[in-house]
Amino acid sequence: LEEIQDFKGKYPRQIWSLFFSEMWERFCFYGMRGMLIFFMISELKLNESEANLQYAATQAFVYAFTFVGGIFADKILGFRKSLFWGGLLMIVGSMILATNPHDFFFLGISFTVVGTGFFKPNISTMVGKLYKSGDNRTDAGFSLFYAGINLGAFLGGYFCIAIGKGEMFANLIPEDKRWNVAFGLAAVVMVISLINFIFTQRRLGPIGLQPLKMLKNGQQIAIEKWKEYGVYVLSLVFVPLIMIMVSKPEYTDYFMYTIGPLTLIYLFYEMSLVEKIERNKLFAALIFIIFSIVFWGIYEQSGGSLSIFAAHNLNNDLLGLDPNGVNNSGGAFFILLVAVPIGLIWIWLNKKKLEPNTIIKFGLGFLFLGLGFYAIFATKFFANLQGVTSLSIFTGALFIITLGEMCLSPIGLSIMTKLSTEKLQGMMMGMWFLASAYGQYLAGLIGANMATARENSSNLEKLNAYTEGYKDLGLYAVIAGVLLIAISPLVKKLMSDVK
Ligand code: GLN
Repeated sequence: LEEIQDFKGKYPRQIWSLFFSEMWERFCFYGMRGMLIFFMISELKLNESEANLQYAATQAFVYAFTFVGGIFADKILGFRKSLFWGGLLMIVGSMILATNPHDFFFLGISFTVVGTGFFKPNISTMVGKLYKSGDNRTDAGFSLFYAGINLGAFLGGYFCIAIGKGEMFANLIPEDKRWNVAFGLAAVVMVISLINFIFTQRRLGPIGLQPLKMLKNGQQIAIEKWKEYGVYVLSLVFVPLIMIMVSKPEYTDYFMYTIGPLTLIYLFYEMSLVEKIERNKLFAALIFIIFSIVFWGIYEQSGGSLSIFAAHNLNNDLLGLDPNGVNNSGGAFFILLVAVPIGLIWIWLNKKKLEPNTIIKFGLGFLFLGLGFYAIFATKFFANLQGVTSLSIFTGALFIITLGEMCLSPIGLSIMTKLSTEKLQGMMMGMWFLASAYGQYLAGLIGANMATARENSSNLEKLNAYTEGYKDLGLYAVIAGVLLIAISPLVKKLMSDVK
């Protein structure tokens, strides 16, 4: 381990193994995600509001499951086995969809949800393990990893839906097989992700191997095999449960009402077992987690209300691009553009002893988010009489929002690994993503609220109504940012030696 963590240069060499596995996994994930709502409406003939709710439910469950996946990894499987098992389930899910998406849609999706839960948090935790605690190159490493995420997201988000809709390779694929091929592509890239991991995992040395159980006499032994198989069986039991819950939105409500409080109780229990310094750090992590719910609640308008806004109120004054396409993939594109420069800026500022600490970075993230939403609000001043406004200005707003995402999301991953105790790494990463689950859920509620009773209004009325909503969201983001910066001395104290 020492050998890995004592690397020279900017990045540990092992990060590439994780980078590529995560890139392909995100290709699969965002490829599917991009197809969900479209497929539900055009192929499964769900009405729009039903589709919206079920879509939001799948997203909320995906992120909620990362919490479960994180705990099982910590306690029983270890990160590598979890990742492997999660990848397998994702492959099974996408193969089911590739074979018969119309009849087995929710079954396939549910496999993918559980699989992502085992895969996603644990690969992120392993990135953190490549660094010694206190290594100030950690944030830059997570920025690079985040670029991998978005490279996959960008490609998958674009190709899968384009193939499914028949906008690409239409002459090569028979019309009734397009969706099969699109979901099949997600399966294929997931296989590539796992193969990449299998062949490169050797380099990770001891990182992510099974956790050890501490005996009373201080000796450590391997976890019993039956527990490992128990986890596999249990995760298969979750699949039909998720299928049922996704199909009935009120079950999602009940789930969201219970999982959060239960998680908090469990976290407090774990906090009571550790020393005060550790406890304070976990408490600081919790503050980051809670703020991130607000962040994602606003940010995730992108998959919901902003797609509706893009469809009705944006022109194509940017290279003739389709506004929905830009709204879907613009963020990932900008991240690719800025991830490495931002990582380098942090390192440069660090050398000059000017690097803001994590709390201030989070605060900046909110300020950029707020500014971005104000910029979306401002598009209204460039609208024509029909209520259609400039895609270019909207894209500028997306860029600002992306800067905000870069100040919060990769840094959030990094800080989770730094603030949690050794034993709770997977769980804390899972909690970080659980916050995304709540963010998705919240985003759905906000979006639905903005959309109420506007279905039949004119584009101009829509423009006014939506932009007013975005102005409010901008304000909330700014308030959250200012609040975070104001409490930063306190949080800094809780974090003790972690920066
Ligand atoms: N876009 C990032 C990813 O897919 C972050 C998602 C999130 O935490 N909500 O990893």
